[in-house]
Amino acid sequence: MGGYSLIPTPSSTQGEDPPNSTTGFLSCSCKTGSTLTPPKHTTSTTVPFISFLLAITTCLSLSVAAAALPPHSHQLIKNSEHIAKFSRPLTKLKHPVVILISSDGFRFGYQFKTDTPNIDNLIKNGTEAEEGLIPVFPSATFPNHYSIVTGLHPAYHGIINNRFFDPKLNETFTRPTGSNVSKWWFGEPLWETVVNHGFNASTYFWPGSVASKGKWTCQEYFCKQFNESVPFEERVDGVLNYFDMPNSEIPVLMTLYFQDPDAQGHEVGPDDPEITEAVGRIDSMIGRLIQGLKKRGVFEDVHIVLVGDHGMVGTCDKKLIFLDDLAPWIKISSNWVEADKAQLGIRPPAGYSPADVVAKMTKGLKEINNGKHLKVYLKEKLPKRLHYVASDRISPIIGLVDEGFTVTQSRPGGEKYCGGAHGYDNKYFSMRSIFIGHGPRFARGKKVISFQNVEIYNIVTSILKIKGAPNNGTKGFPTKILLPKH
Ligand SMILES: [Zn+2]
Repeated sequence: MGGYSLIPTPSSTQGEDPPNSTTGFLSCSCKTGSTLTPPKHTTSTTVPFISFLLAITTCLSLSVAAAALPPHSHQLIKNSEHIAKFSRPLTKLKHPVVILISSDGFRFGYQFKTDTPNIDNLIKNGTEAEEGLIPVFPSATFPNHYSIVTGLHPAYHGIINNRFFDPKLNETFTRPTGSNVSKWWFGEPLWETVVNHGFNASTYFWPGSVASKGKWTCQEYFCKQFNESVPFEERVDGVLNYFDMPNSEIPVLMTLYFQDPDAQGHEVGPDDPEITEAVGRIDSMIGRLIQGLKKRGVFEDVHIVLVGDHGMVGTCDKKLIFLDDLAPWIKISSNWVEADKAQLGIRPPAGYSPADVVAKMTKGLKEINNGKHLKVYLKEKLPKRLHYVASDRISPIIGLVDEGFTVTQSRPGGEKYCGGAHGYDNKYFSMRSIFIGHGPRFARGKKVISFQNVEIYNIVTSILKIKGAPNNGTKGFPTKILLPKH
């Protein structure tokens, strides 16, 4: 591990809050550029908390005014007069069970593209983030999936991007080479927390789930090695089979992952009939799951948490920024570039001052084509709401790219850029995904405002009645989402 602590020490420069703080709740950046700072303690003062949420809702409605929003209420909870006071008791299961489902790249709003009767059923009879789930930055697949199951921002759980360089290990993480290797994955994922408490957990695919963590080792029956060609039906049936085990052996946490509609989104962008078709297919898988649970008499006992990791935005040829165009100001070698496309990560070699590189790039970006759509920062100077500083794995220079734009070294011959992308600043509405919870601890028909996915870890451990590891989730947050125990 080369002296790595489990959780990197927060940088004092950016004033980052370490895990277990109460400030992990979403912050939002208005058009004015002002950032709302969440209250330090939210448990005892309901009125300030709600004021804060109202302020955020107002702020968000300003910042996303251009996006087509469904009619929404500026309240934390809608229809509160119909909300039950307590959770519903289990009838068949001995212990609460959570099925955590991810539909990769399920942008918030996709559920309105086509008939989704099964997702609608969960929404109608469950609790929904009415304006979507906010990803962590960068809004990429691996960082977000691992934030969902650890409650940690990427700087703390270590998976700071889908691909990154670790200067201490002097190695590069890639999805094919790093997925199974424990040294990359910090924090305590839900499956580890669950087995630490003596219960079974199962993972039908999830980034990080194959790496051994404490008492968790990827046992074949409970943990599947990712294979994108496994039919979705087989995955759903695999999860359902666990309910045929003796009651005390049923995994209390089950993950289920679908790589759609992300796969189509990258190819064709978010507004294409292929997406509509993929969304319909995900809905039918949810239907298959519901039917299987009903057949076993456990549908109303099981907690289904349906999420996505990030959204998707259309990209195309004209929205390109070329690093080579900056050559008159500073020559950015391709060896320096650790991340590109929807965000930029640059690690200049020894002998170069990152501050000097930022200054020269900033000067050049004022002049080059589309340069105004890229803003470069020393990572310590990034907006605090991104929580993207406290790890050596994060490049010293980070560029934020306007949504839909692509930054790249140069135009490769013949490559086509039209399609879809994600990875952008999580302030963009297009980067949001969905949160839908159904089951005994979720009120029926309840709407909550958007929150960041680092809150999910604590929601799940609350449902499972187990003590979670320290994380960036907001203290007391699950009580805002869940019904009190019966
Ligand atoms: Zn993804």
